[in-house]
Amino acid sequence: MNPEIRDKYEVVIGLEVHAQMLTKTKAYSNDINEFGAVPNTNVSVVSLGHPGTLPMMNKKTIEYAIRLGLACGCTIARDQYFARKNYFYPDLPKGYQITQDKTPICTGGAVIIKTEDGKEKSIGLTRIHMEEDAGKSIHDVDVFDTLVDLNRAGVPLVEIVSEPDIRSSQEAYNYLSEIRKLVRYLDICDGNMEEGSLRCDANVSVRLKNAPEFGTKVEVKNMNSIRNVQRAIEYEIIRQIEAVEKGETLTQETRSFDALKGITISMRTKEAANDYRYFPEPDLQPLFVDQKQIDSIQAEMPALPRDLFLKYTKELGLSEYDAYILTDSKSIALYFEELIQCTKNYKSAANWIMGDVKSYLNHNGLEIEQFPISQEQLAALIKLIDDGKVSSTVASQKIFPALLENPSKNPLTIAEELNVIQESDENSILQYIQQVIDQNPAEVQRYRDGEKQLTGFLMGQLMKLSKGKADPKASNQLLREQLEN
Ligand code: ADP
Ligand code: MG
Repeated sequence: MNPEIRDKYEVVIGLEVHAQMLTKTKAYSNDINEFGAVPNTNVSVVSLGHPGTLPMMNKKTIEYAIRLGLACGCTIARDQYFARKNYFYPDLPKGYQITQDKTPICTGGAVIIKTEDGKEKSIGLTRIHMEEDAGKSIHDVDVFDTLVDLNRAGVPLVEIVSEPDIRSSQEAYNYLSEIRKLVRYLDICDGNMEEGSLRCDANVSVRLKNAPEFGTKVEVKNMNSIRNVQRAIEYEIIRQIEAVEKGETLTQETRSFDALKGITISMRTKEAANDYRYFPEPDLQPLFVDQKQIDSIQAEMPALPRDLFLKYTKELGLSEYDAYILTDSKSIALYFEELIQCTKNYKSAANWIMGDVKSYLNHNGLEIEQFPISQEQLAALIKLIDDGKVSSTVASQKIFPALLENPSKNPLTIAEELNVIQESDENSILQYIQQVIDQNPAEVQRYRDGEKQLTGFLMGQLMKLSKGKADPKASNQLLREQLEN
């Protein structure tokens, strides 16, 4: 699309995110809540919607929703009322979902994201409410029929509804990444979009810049990755701008994203929208949450990515980039947290994790939980470098691989066995320097005549003579001193 035309428009996006809670059992029954079980095994009369059965509130869901609400600075409602959202669908045996309608557990609050130009931006939250998942209709296993798996029916969800504060597909991407990071840090959802434990509907509209009102919004569904949410939004933006440019009026509708074709397809229009006929759930008593309960959830909150980010940049003096990478995954951050208990060289600790450790993990398809080297051992390796005993190149290329083979062996012992301990003793370095000067009189003369770049060559000779064991920093300094004499 012509950038000039696109530039006339402002994009407005609000996201509705569903997160499956990592509770042991379902929201209103004792059925096991797990992904990937044999279809229709984690069911009971309650989740099958048999007449006369009664729901029973899983209080863990409330605790998890409050955890999320507190992390986002929301106001937590004291009285929890539940409502029925009625519709007919084969994967919804009860004929309704139990949800919260007018009284969401959390209101207000915000998620802080990075914008395209790296600035921080606050995306307001309208609400977070608790509800239950429906079962799953499977269309692609049987050639003739749609199959229904009710294991998912009754799995607890929170729905996080954002204000229409998002202004680009990249911001939507960053917002979702932030939410996924947050629910993982909070241990309330595994954040797996491919398995559907985190799902997102995107509401998208466009308007001419400076227009007083928002444009007509379109809701896009069925994106199974954060990247696909971004693609779907990007497609919608272009489609809508082109329609407006042609003088068409957009209709409020729900569209489905086709990931293969990269396009959105109309599912239903506003006129055909469901009327859910919400009414209060008569089988669940309202639940009261008191301040004591909120305080104790607050007291047990794990460290959040934002807190760690601020600690790394403000207290440890790391760059924003480093802090961002280190806090991106909770397990990496936890490893780093323990590593900095063992070493005060924070920058080096960060470099090891972002460099050698991460590439080892990526290369072997492992998570940091499976990383064999303990924080104490890695810190001992860092200390070898800091003490000038080995160069960082040797540490990375020789000792680190040996340590991976033998994670409990002392790095110093490994260095000794490999015979890679550096000579930082001034006298022995001076002896090498004398040899270099004796063997390369012409180069030394040219250096003294002003060809200062010859230090590189002479350093190379020195390293060769010492078989790479002379401490490069000390050698470099001493060599220059001797050459200037
Ligand atoms: P509905 O009643 O259709 O569900 P809501 O007002 O509940 O609509 O909003 C649902 C989502 O759509 C929210 O995330 C909200 O921020 C977003 N939204 C509302 N209006 C617009 C708009 N004009 N453009 C883009 N997103 C919007
Ligand atoms: Mg809505």
